[in-house]
Amino acid sequence: MKYKNSLAFAQQLDKEDQLAYLRNQFYIPKDKNGNDWLYFTGNSLGLQPKSTKEYINQELEDWANLGVEGHFEAKNPWLHYHEYLTDKMAKIVGAKPVEVVVMNTLTTNLHLLMVSFYRPTKSKYKIVIESDAFPSDRYAVQSQLKFHGFSEDDVIEWKPRKGSALLNIDDLEKIVENQGDEIALLLIGGVNYYTGQYLDLKRIAEIGHSKDCVVGIDLAHGAGNIQPNLHDSGVDFAAWCTYKYLNSGPGSLAGLFVHEKHAKNKDLPRFAGWWNHNKSTRFNMRMPFDVMEGAEGWQLSNPPILSMAAIKASLDLFDEIGMDALREKSEKLTGYFEFLIDEIGAEDIKIITPKNPKERGCQLSIQVKNTDKSLHQKLTEKNIITDWREPDVIRCAPTPMYNSFEDVYKMVSILKGIL
Ligand SMILES: *Cc1c(COP(=O)(O)O)cnc(C)c1O
Repeated sequence: MKYKNSLAFAQQLDKEDQLAYLRNQFYIPKDKNGNDWLYFTGNSLGLQPKSTKEYINQELEDWANLGVEGHFEAKNPWLHYHEYLTDKMAKIVGAKPVEVVVMNTLTTNLHLLMVSFYRPTKSKYKIVIESDAFPSDRYAVQSQLKFHGFSEDDVIEWKPRKGSALLNIDDLEKIVENQGDEIALLLIGGVNYYTGQYLDLKRIAEIGHSKDCVVGIDLAHGAGNIQPNLHDSGVDFAAWCTYKYLNSGPGSLAGLFVHEKHAKNKDLPRFAGWWNHNKSTRFNMRMPFDVMEGAEGWQLSNPPILSMAAIKASLDLFDEIGMDALREKSEKLTGYFEFLIDEIGAEDIKIITPKNPKERGCQLSIQVKNTDKSLHQKLTEKNIITDWREPDVIRCAPTPMYNSFEDVYKMVSILKGIL
């Protein structure tokens, strides 16, 4: 694609964009004078679809009018509510419905998955993470190690090479080749939250499995951003939140994936509650525990319907558009963003995210040398909402759902002005 550095060109791209109409289906926050913010933090909290209120109101109405009968009599009977989300969520992450469930929150799901899939022995107990793993993931694996009587130093870090911010998968292969006999689990961010690097999940699964290590993926920055094809990748498990690219509201519930190869294994150790007990006898109440097959077999509690209603609103939008169309726009939009940043031509600015569109989602992490957080403040004063990471990186995520080519053009012009 041949890009041009002009507002008219950006506006032309918006005119040709088949998905441009979606922006109007979201609330775009505005400043005091009624000007739209340039919102580049869909990787942190996605914006609210205008339809979300209706979906939540439906459940509030049914609760008001039906009380407990809403479990059966609501327009969307609550008893089955999580099932309304499964097929659509499965499509977003490239999984089979039996492999996916929406429940709990992300870190909680990682722990529940490690209960089943982190089964250390005296000699095979270490856990591999990226050196720049998201803090919550690091704390989760360290606490699992300690819980099983090991030390938090038994984490093995997969580090970028000197002079690069990015991970090289050959280095993971070496770690597993050399230390695989001691490694029980690989828990890797499929799209790294800091650099935006999208890793080859299939290759990670092959590397891990070559030495009988379990492979788990955190998809917080992947779900709704790239198509991870979880089933074909062969990874054992994955989890992701829905409040980032999936636009389901602050602190909303998370997704969980367990590969089909484990679906019928009722011997996997796990925690139990009434919601992973066999649906058909759940309400007999006096039956011995009988675990459900598939990802549903990791649920514990009956879920919060109001939060699920927000997820339903968002997933209906994703389903209408499809990940293919979203990805197509996303590559173009982020490509244009990259082009404009490069056009600034300043030596102090460097994009640390991979150049290859197949190795990234929509986010670009821009390193600005010789600066500090005041740059971020100046951007914010100009209505540009980005995310600052110490010491010198701005993370910006133009999302294909509600960001325009004009947003990207304006953002880069203002950034150039500030610099
Ligand atoms: C956002 C994010 C989290 C947040 O975890 P919660 O349990 O939802 O608070 C965890 N891990 C990664 C990689 C994230 O990007």
